[in-house]
Amino acid sequence: MRVSEAIAKSNKPLFTFEILPPVKGSDIHSIYRAIDPLLEFEPAFIEVTYHREEIKYKELPNGSIEKKTLRKRPGTVGISAAIKYKYKVEIVPHIICGGFNREETENGLIDLHFLGIHNLLVIRGDNLPGEKFFTPDKGGHRYAVDLLRQIMDLNRGIYLDDELENNSPTDFTVGVAGYPEKHAEAPNMSADIKHLKEKADAGAEYIVTQMFFDNKKYFDFVRLCREAGILVPIIPGLKPIVTIGQLQTLPRTFNISIPEELEKEVEKCKDNKAARQVGIEWCTMQSKELMQARVPALHYFTMGRSDNIREIVKAVF
Ligand code: FAD
Repeated sequence: MRVSEAIAKSNKPLFTFEILPPVKGSDIHSIYRAIDPLLEFEPAFIEVTYHREEIKYKELPNGSIEKKTLRKRPGTVGISAAIKYKYKVEIVPHIICGGFNREETENGLIDLHFLGIHNLLVIRGDNLPGEKFFTPDKGGHRYAVDLLRQIMDLNRGIYLDDELENNSPTDFTVGVAGYPEKHAEAPNMSADIKHLKEKADAGAEYIVTQMFFDNKKYFDFVRLCREAGILVPIIPGLKPIVTIGQLQTLPRTFNISIPEELEKEVEKCKDNKAARQVGIEWCTMQSKELMQARVPALHYFTMGRSDNIREIVKAVF
């Protein structure tokens, strides 16, 4: 079922979550172990993140430096198909601009189409580590909206090779990312919302937000989007804090803020076990309020572990 259809049909907020493909070398059962405890809450869909290559430099015994291109978490397409057919659940792989040209993107989309995967979250992807600005591959897309337009073309049967005949259209439904606290690179919120509207106008049927720890940020963002004419469902993305160190790393990595009250509670924690519990309680409180506000879905970033998400969802759904 299309994500937007599932939202429209439901008379209460849906439960959805995101998983990461396992680190290269691990087996697929680590993913099943994260999914299994959440199944009883009937997720409407599961998202699978996409991770591009990373550049690593290694000093060799002779003093020279070896440059290596590695992908730590390959397997998004394979994991998506495995989960879809094992659990009979709707799956939403993420698809990114970074690291691909248009031809590679088209071929990847054809794989997904043949696998019966029709929901996608379309994003630009992170910069390469150490890269100051996002650089598209030669012949690749600079912004998520450009990738989205390629997918919409394919949905109309327009492939890159204009000599192809009897083209079969794909039927992808696309969601995109939104930022209640603004994307790090956007000069201001209205510029960011203007670009978000371009994605909705180009065919995005829903938005999943970056994590936030103060629901007011989400409610204000939804209001600004509506005022700008963005009318598609806006799904709040939620992540419980799990370590004390995340007070520093989350704001730096994701350009988000941590409310003072949450910061104080985490700072009082003796260890990460206690911080994890604070994270569960805070996220449960956020979830209950969002549930009451009848948001389209509550979407949880599991980061590969689900025991904390299970506790939250059990208290909310
Ligand atoms: P875009 O929509 O392209 O926007 C990027 C920036 O460019 C913004 O500042 C925007 O305002 C600006 N912009 C957009 N269009 C234009 C234009 N036409 N002209 C000028 N400026 C413009 N990363 C991964 O690598 N893998 C994942 O699986 C992944 N999943 C994510 C899931 C969610 C829910 C979210 C919120 C983020 C995710 N990310 C993921 C991170 C994401 O790739 C980064 O935040 C990235 O920097 C931006 O992606 P985007 O799709 O929002 O980009």
